[in-house]
Amino acid sequence: MMMKRRTEAAERFAERRRQEDEAPRLKDVVPDLTSCKIDVEEWRSTATSADVSHTRRVVVDHAPALFVIPCGDSACKDGGHDVTSQLLRGLREGRTTVEGDDTCHGSVGTTTCGRILKFTAHAEYKPKV
Ligand SMILES: [Zn+2]
Repeated sequence: MMMKRRTEAAERFAERRRQEDEAPRLKDVVPDLTSCKIDVEEWRSTATSADVSHTRRVVVDHAPALFVIPCGDSACKDGGHDVTSQLLRGLREGRTTVEGDDTCHGSVGTTTCGRILKFTAHAEYKPKV
């Protein structure tokens, strides 16, 4: 059983690496972007305050244009938050603040995870000439 779990995790990791390798580079999608950090809050579906919050710094020169944030619940299976399209839409529009949210559709035991991720991205761009 342990072996099987480890293999699944390794496969998921390899799959994520493959998706990141195949994704376009962020600097090609949003050439004017110079810096981006993303404040992330995770909410349990029943909670009234954020369960976890952290900030992700994006290495603009190297980052893939792919923003998939793993679910914070270690018991969650096949969960996670793909905020790529919400975030890229805002960055393409040149917004300095991009907000969005996503609900986890993974499963915890026999129920749906339902954790809610809220993100606020703070972006800076090259000055327009
Ligand atoms: Zn989840």
